[in-house]
Parts: sequence; C-alpha cells; structure tokens
Amino acid sequence: METTIVKAYGAAASDADLNQMDIQRRVVTAKDVEIEILYCGVCHSDLHTARNDWGGTVYPAVPGHEIVGKVTKVGSEVKRFKVGELVGVGCLVDSCRTCDSCKKDLEQYCLTGFTGTYNGKEKYLGTQTFGGYSEKIVVDDHFVLKVPGNLDAAGVAPLLCAGITTWSPLKHWGVKKGSKVAVVGLGGLGHMAIKLAKGLGASVTLFSRSEGKTEDAKKLGADAVVISTDPGQMKSVRGKFDLIIDTVPYVHDVNPYVGTLTINGTLVLVGYLGELDPMLNSVPMIMGRKSVSGSLIGGIAETQEMLDFCGKHNIVSDIEIIKMQDINQAYERMIKSDVKYRFVIDMASL
Ligand code: NAP
Ligand code: ZN
Ligand code: ZN
Repeated sequence: METTIVKAYGAAASDADLNQMDIQRRVVTAKDVEIEILYCGVCHSDLHTARNDWGGTVYPAVPGHEIVGKVTKVGSEVKRFKVGELVGVGCLVDSCRTCDSCKKDLEQYCLTGFTGTYNGKEKYLGTQTFGGYSEKIVVDDHFVLKVPGNLDAAGVAPLLCAGITTWSPLKHWGVKKGSKVAVVGLGGLGHMAIKLAKGLGASVTLFSRSEGKTEDAKKLGADAVVISTDPGQMKSVRGKFDLIIDTVPYVHDVNPYVGTLTINGTLVLVGYLGELDPMLNSVPMIMGRKSVSGSLIGGIAETQEMLDFCGKHNIVSDIEIIKMQDINQAYERMIKSDVKYRFVIDMASL
C-alpha cells in the first residue's frame, strides 16, 4: 500500500520525552478522508499511553485523539465530506461494523475490538496507529465527525474525547432537567461533565481535592463544590446524587462517594482503569440498590449528537493553547492538575 511521510511528535520509549519524528500515513482509499490537523487536545490518556501506564504501548507512540482539522482529500466513495470542510476525529478510527455492538452504534464496545486512533492496529499497514500529534491523518469516513460552524475550532477539539466520555454516561443514565449529578475531579473530563450536565438541565456538584478550584467550578456551571478531603463536607451530601461521574485517573477510595448516592443511584468510573483499592464495600450498595459502573468514550452517532448539542448550546472546552514543542512540560503540569482545563496543541507550531 502506498504511504506518505508525515511530521509528528511522539515517544520512542516509556521513559523518553516526546520528540519530533516522521511517520507513515496510508494514502486515501475509496472510503477515506485525509485531514490536515489544526488542533489536537491533550488527554490524560495520551500521557498514560506515552508512559505505558496501562502496559501494551507500542513504540514509537504518537498520541492525540481530540483532533480538529480541515479535509484535504476524499476517496471516491466518500459522499458526506468535501475538501475544505472542518471536521473532527476522536478516539476511534475503525471497528468491525458488523457485530452486535457496532450495529447498535456502540463502536467503542466492538466485540472484536475497536481500532484506537493511536496505539491501535493500522489495518492496511499492519503498524500501530498514530494519533493527532501530527500534520495529517487519514480516517475512514464513518469515523469522521462534522464540527458545528458556530463553535471555536480549538475549543471543539477536547469535545472529541473529554466531551463524549462524559456525555455518554449522562445520556445512558437518563440525566435530564432536575437530575442531581456530581462530578469527581475538575480536569479535562470533569469540566466537560459539568458543562454538559448543566446543559441537560441537571443540578451539578463538584467533588475536588483542590480548594482553589471552587470559583472556577462555579463559573463553569457547578451549583456546589464539596472538598472531598473534608469529612464534614462529605457528610453534608450523603444520599444526594442520582449519578456521579468519577474522572480521577489514579487509584483512589470510591466508597465515600457511594455514600453520597441516592437510592438507585449510580457511580460511573471513567477515569481509573484497574483494581479498586480499598475494595468496594457492598453494604451501602445492597442497602440502597446503588450501583458502581464504568463507561468508555462513546459511539460515533452519539459523538455527533454531542457535537450538535454543543453547537446548539454554545458549549466548548476551556482551553490553554500550547505549541507542540511544549508537550513534555504540559504532561508534567497535567500530573500536578495544573491545567485550566484542557491543553490544546496548535498544530501549526509543528
Ligand atoms: P485530568 O485533566 O488530569 O483531570 C483529572 C482530575 O482528577 C484532576 O484535575 C484532579 O481534580 C483529579 N485528580 C488527579 N489526580 C488525582 C488523585 N491522585 N486523586 C484524586 N483526584 C485526582 O485528566 P482527564 O484528561 O480529565 O482524564 C481523566 C482520566 O480519564 C484519565 O485517567 C484518562 O485516561 C481517563 N479517560 C477515560 C476515558 C474513558 O473512555 N473512560 C476517556 C478519556 C479519558 P481535582 O484537582 O479537582 O481533585
Ligand atoms: Zn482521551
Ligand atoms: Zn464490531
């Protein structure tokens, strides 16, 4: 298969800084869209992957799955997009399209495994997939999203992961006007969860370790902030929430949050992947029919629905634009929770 060489930024090993490198992209097939990347958001998953936190990273690794760009070429069978159009690509670039999950527009739960935008398997080239920290990407048109024209293109980028990852559980658990939602952690996912839950008409509480984020959280739309390290504040919200979206990226005690769920309430883990420590105590779950669940990004149709909702409600991410060359420093700041509230790379800097 024919390929072109494209400039990118990636990690050569788990303990290496990200640096400029060349990668290969396939040339467009009949169903492909070629996109010149304008902006790429920086997700905590990028850092987990670059540093092999989850195991399984194939190097070199080029992260980035919050991509907004302009269409530069389309394959002969592509009807939905034209050259020059502003489009988005999120965490998925392929799936089998035929299994039960795919048929239900749940490509993220494809029974044969979806193809991630990075660290997936490039089905034409047999290499790992390379993400959005690069000049260009080539994606099957089914996995390309339309970006509402009224929104700021850089602020849209984080919607493609942080937005859909929080939108999907809000919709799945039926959040509507009057629902009581709480969000754990005010980072990229957390700030989008607040904006989207608010947009759906819910009342929203933020759980944060960081006292300094209270004012910002309220500006973002939170009705209340609870400092999770303060037992008195935690007690004051016992039995209160219908849905809690927990975005914390590292192992932490989930039990105190379960206690703040109402009868039939659900806590959805979206941040941390792995065994819980301490373990879950079943008593409050049994005594109040409470659930602890998990959720992975969202399907393509659902992502488009979220983007259209954001277009209608004028919702974008609060971002700090960085140059590609500042990515290593951005990762260090992200670990310290020093981001308001998403870094977005201006790809022109590459
Ligand atoms: P982020 O911007 O770094 O935000 C995480 C927030 O969690 C921080 O701002 C902080 O908020 C809180 N936090 C951080 N470390 C903590 C600790 N040790 N204990 C307690 N709280 C802590 O990260 P993100 O990009 O939103 O991503 C969050 C997680 O979701 C990552 O692990 C990422 O890989 C994962 N993710 C999952 C999916 C999915 O499909 N399920 C999709 C995208 C990302 P406060 O300062 O307010 O406490
Ligand atoms: Zn992500
Ligand atoms: Zn499938």
